Amino acid sequence: MADSSSSPLKHFVQAKKKINTIFEQLLEYVNEGARFIEESHQNKGLEKITTQQQLSEIKIFASKVAGISEVLARRHMKVAFFGRTSNGKSTVINAMLWDKVLPSGIGHTTNCFLSVEGTDGDKAYLMTEDSEEKKNVKTVNQLAHALHQNEYLDAGCLVRVFWPKSKCALLRDDLVLMDSPGTDVTTELDTWIDKFCLDADVFVLVANSESTLMQTEKQFFYKVNERLSKPNIFILNNRWDASASEPEYMDEVRQQHTDRCVNFLVDELGVMDHAQAENRIFFISAKEAVNARIHKAQGMPEGGGALADGFQARLFEFQKFERQFEECISQSAVKTKFEQHTIRAKQIIDTVKKIMDSINVVAAEKRVLSLEEREDHLDQLEFVRSQLTLLSEDCKRKIKLVTEEVETKVSAAMTHEICRLSILVDEFKGDFHSAPSVLRFYKNDLQKHIEAGLGRNLADRCSTAVHASLHTAQLEIIENFKPLLPLNIQNRVNELLPFHKFDLSYDLNCNKICADFQENIEFQFSLGWTSLVSRFLGPKNARRALLGLANPTSQFLRPLPVTPIVTNAPELAQENMTQEDMISLVTGLASLTSRTSVGVVVIGGVILRAVGWRLIAIALSSYSLLYMYERLMWTTKAKERTFKRQFVDYATEKLQMVISFTSANCSHQVSQEMSSTFARLCQQVDLTEKNLEEAISNLNKKIELLETTQNRSKLLRNKATWLENELDVFTKQYLQPSR
Ligand code: GDP
Repeated sequence: MADSSSSPLKHFVQAKKKINTIFEQLLEYVNEGARFIEESHQNKGLEKITTQQQLSEIKIFASKVAGISEVLARRHMKVAFFGRTSNGKSTVINAMLWDKVLPSGIGHTTNCFLSVEGTDGDKAYLMTEDSEEKKNVKTVNQLAHALHQNEYLDAGCLVRVFWPKSKCALLRDDLVLMDSPGTDVTTELDTWIDKFCLDADVFVLVANSESTLMQTEKQFFYKVNERLSKPNIFILNNRWDASASEPEYMDEVRQQHTDRCVNFLVDELGVMDHAQAENRIFFISAKEAVNARIHKAQGMPEGGGALADGFQARLFEFQKFERQFEECISQSAVKTKFEQHTIRAKQIIDTVKKIMDSINVVAAEKRVLSLEEREDHLDQLEFVRSQLTLLSEDCKRKIKLVTEEVETKVSAAMTHEICRLSILVDEFKGDFHSAPSVLRFYKNDLQKHIEAGLGRNLADRCSTAVHASLHTAQLEIIENFKPLLPLNIQNRVNELLPFHKFDLSYDLNCNKICADFQENIEFQFSLGWTSLVSRFLGPKNARRALLGLANPTSQFLRPLPVTPIVTNAPELAQENMTQEDMISLVTGLASLTSRTSVGVVVIGGVILRAVGWRLIAIALSSYSLLYMYERLMWTTKAKERTFKRQFVDYATEKLQMVISFTSANCSHQVSQEMSSTFARLCQQVDLTEKNLEEAISNLNKKIELLETTQNRSKLLRNKATWLENELDVFTKQYLQPSR
């Protein structure tokens, strides 16, 4: 068996392996690209990075590459043998296969085409076009028998003979040999060509060297030449062994045959030039070759006994043919079977590369934009945060200023109003009566009147100014905060002002303040004991003195404010006074009164001695008259006046005590009002911050996604370049004509 390791057919086998590997990688690559584009297309975060057109384009490529891969995997070299019946086509095939694979010598058994191809199994079988059944054949006779049994096979159908690759080197190298029924037996050359010849890489015309080329043989090749551009044609002048019987004419005959064949190939068909044609014409004996090889395979001498003249030369020429044929078919098959697909693969890779490039560019552009946007947002966030700190300080300062202003204003207004309290009290007209039950109502109404009046007056004095400064301050704060607010709020900042109308509440609580007020509207004689003491000592000393009389050891001081000094103490004292009390009173009085009092007594004594009892009587009666007069003048009106005076004194003192409290309360209200505006603004700024943080986080995700997309598209682009290189290497190695 021939050593096939150095066979030129290996060129095709290796090329096929290589191109299949490249196409497998290409298929994987295009599928990966399609997945990538589909994922990107469906990802909402990657809007407009990929287009529907790119997606459908790459999907079409994926199915195309898959189809081509399948076709490539099934690609083989095909040689078709033509010639008239019994020229020795089957014998040539057997000689090439080093075995009697096809039946010969009995004429063509059927009108069918017979192809021989390799099978990995160790059993030969045949298959017909119309059935999937594998018919086992062990020997060539069985094959002949099987073909005979299929007489019903249509003329021009194909019977595929599968022969174990292990038995035949040629079949291991993806070669399919096809025997034809004989160009002389058919009128359907066109159908044959269309059906069996369009994918043939080489045509071998097996001619009979004992006769000249027949028109029927030529006719077939004319037609092939019409269909295929420059088919590879070899002409075997078979049965050359017969010429050995007439050696004297051998050279002449050979030359004649050669000239005719060259003429046919070069001039008639125009498929090659003269020099090439001489390498395509061989004079062989297929019968000798097959016999020699079978003998050799069986370990017997090649000639198998008596050798005809020129046997070695013919065998050598047959081998030469085989060599030429193998080189030609592998070169041609690689070109015809792989070149177009290589070009297509390059186009696909180029387009996918462009798609990946454009995705990369778009993703890069979008990433830069997103980075800028994020930078912008980060700056804004930083600005908002720093401004918020500054504005908060500023706002607190403003609140402090306004509240202080309000406090001062309210305090001043209150002081002023307290001074005018008597007017307010005088304005009050109520049903006054000294009876406690009526007086209680009167007091109550008076307190309400004061409360309302003071509130009104204070509001007149302060509210407008307070409201104005509060409003101005609030507007200023809002204006300062405006750049930090969410965009939709910036146009409607007025909504940030409080919804309610601010009304300063003075809340004096007169009824509580004056709850302890105790009037004294008992009749009080102006020259009575208490009045005199009061007049001489002043109300405070008198009270102390009188209290001291009531309880000299008592150090207890009643808390202020107290009910206006009442002068009924002496009466009370008198009622409970003992002898000792009188002494202590006198002593106390003596100690309290100054020399003036003593002087009065002394002067009284002197006067008594000087004027006598009459004068005393007059004085006493005047005193009584005065008493009577005052008693008569002590009317309800007088009582009311006294009541009001006492009330004014009392309320004045009390209200003065609550000035700071009330003004603080007012400033607190203003502070609260401003603080609530400030809080609302802070809330909105928080919203701005939150919006910015959310936008930044979204941008981070988007940037990450774009980065991944960019990297993936770059990777796929690089893979495309790598595949391009692989194809270039393949082209250089297998498709360029240097070999
Ligand atoms: P096919 O019909 O073209 O396939 O021809 P076959 O291969 O069946 O051969 C027909 C006959 O020719 C057979 O008997 C072969 O033995 C014989 N034959 C084939 N080749 C040669 C050859 O080179 N020399 C001689 N003398 N006989 C041959």
